[in-house]
Amino acid sequence: PQEDLLARRDASFATVQEHYYGNPPRIERGWRHHMLSTDGRAYLDMVNNVTPLGHAHPRVERAVARQLRRLNTNSRFHYASVVEFSERLAALLPAPLDTVFLVNSGSEAVDLAIRLAIGATGRHDVVALREAYHGWTYASDAVSTSIADNPNALASRPDWVHTVDSPNPYRGNHRGEAATAYATEAVRTVEDLAATGRAPGAFISESFYGNAGAVALPDGYLAQVYAAVRRHGGLTIADEIQVGYGRLGSWFWGFEQQGVTPDIVTVAKAIGNGHPLGAVITSRAVAERYRDQGYFFSSTGGSPVSSIAGLTVLDTLRDEDLQGNAVRVGAHLKARLEELAERHPLIGAVHGAGLYLGVELVRDHATLEPAPEETTELCDRMLDLGVIVQPTGDHQNVLKIKPPLCIDRTAADFFTATLDRALTELR
Ligand code: PMP
Repeated sequence: PQEDLLARRDASFATVQEHYYGNPPRIERGWRHHMLSTDGRAYLDMVNNVTPLGHAHPRVERAVARQLRRLNTNSRFHYASVVEFSERLAALLPAPLDTVFLVNSGSEAVDLAIRLAIGATGRHDVVALREAYHGWTYASDAVSTSIADNPNALASRPDWVHTVDSPNPYRGNHRGEAATAYATEAVRTVEDLAATGRAPGAFISESFYGNAGAVALPDGYLAQVYAAVRRHGGLTIADEIQVGYGRLGSWFWGFEQQGVTPDIVTVAKAIGNGHPLGAVITSRAVAERYRDQGYFFSSTGGSPVSSIAGLTVLDTLRDEDLQGNAVRVGAHLKARLEELAERHPLIGAVHGAGLYLGVELVRDHATLEPAPEETTELCDRMLDLGVIVQPTGDHQNVLKIKPPLCIDRTAADFFTATLDRALTELR
C-alpha cells in the first residue's frame, strides 16, 4: 500500500530529500502534460520543466531505446551523435560561444562553469545574486543563496562567494526604480573587490529570475553588471538551466531579454527531456585556458544515448514549434491569470513570460507581506482537484508555473479554473 511505500522511502532517504507533498500521489506514468497515479487519477503537471516536449514523448522514447539497443559508452570514444549534438547546441548561441562541455546535470554544469571562469582568469572570487539556486555540488551550492532551499544559505557562504541584492523589481529594495538602482550595489561590490586586489573571476546569475518567482530582471540590469565585471577582468556566467531553451517564448535564451551575451552559459533539465544531460558552452579562448588548471572528463556526459536524446529534443522543439506554443499559450495563460488577479486580492502580481509564470500571493498589497501558508494550502487543494503546482521564491509564496511546453489552451483553462475555485474556497 501507499503508506508502506512512503514509510520505506523515509527509511532509506534523509529528511532533506523531501518530496513535493505531505501525502503525495504515487505516480506511474506520464503523457504529454499529464501524470497518472497508480489509483487511476490524471494530474495536470504545471511544474515540470524537465520534460519540455511532454512526458514520455514517443519520438524521444524511440530514439533513446534504439540507441540503447545499439551502443552506449563514454564520450572519449569517437561517434557521430556527440559531435552533431555539440554543433547544434553551439549553433543556438551567439559568437563567440562555440565550445561545448557535456555533463549530466545542472549542478555539474554550474560547477564546471565556475571552474572554467577561475581557470581562465586565475581569480577565485565569485559574485552571485541573493535568492538564487544554482545546484547542490560544492561550487554550485556555494553560489546558491536562496533561504527557501537552505535557511543558512547566507550565513554559511565560503569566503570566495560575494552576494548582492536580488534585482527583483516587485519585491526588491528599489521598487519602481530603474535598473541602475538595482545594479549599483552589484557594480560597487565588484569595484570594492577589485580595490582590495580580489577582483572577481566570475559573476553568475539566472538571466531571467526564475528562482525569485519568474520575474524579469529590470531592463538593462545585466548590461551594467556585466560591464563592471568585464572592466575588472572577470567573466559572466548565465545560468539558463531553468529559463533557457524556448520556455520564455519570445526569447530562446533568458539573456536575450537583457540584450547581453554572457561568456559562459549553462544548460540542463529540459535539454534531454528528462534524460540526464547538461552542458556548458563558452568561447574557445576561455575553454582552452582551463587545460592548465583543471581536468575534465565525464564518463556519461554526452554518451551516445544522451547525445541522441539531446538531438531528438532539439528536432522536436523545432518540428512541433514548442517555442511558438510557449508564446501563444503563455500569453493566453498570463491574460487569464491577470483576470484572476483582479478578482482575488490574495494575488499580488503575475510575473513571467512565455510558459514560465509566477503568481505571487501576498496578504497586503501595500506591505507585500508574503502568504506562504496560503500558498501551500492552495497547492494542496489544487492537488485534490487534479493539478500539480508548487511554491517558489525565498518566501515560498509564488506559485511556480512551468508546464511542459506542449500544453494546450484547454489545459491552461483547466488550470486557471481550478486556481479560481481553490482561491474562492480559501477566502
Ligand atoms: N541552476 C538552476 C537555475 C536550477 O533551477 C537548477 C535545478 N533546480 C540547477 C541549476 C541544478 O540543476 P540539477 O538539479 O540538474 O543539478
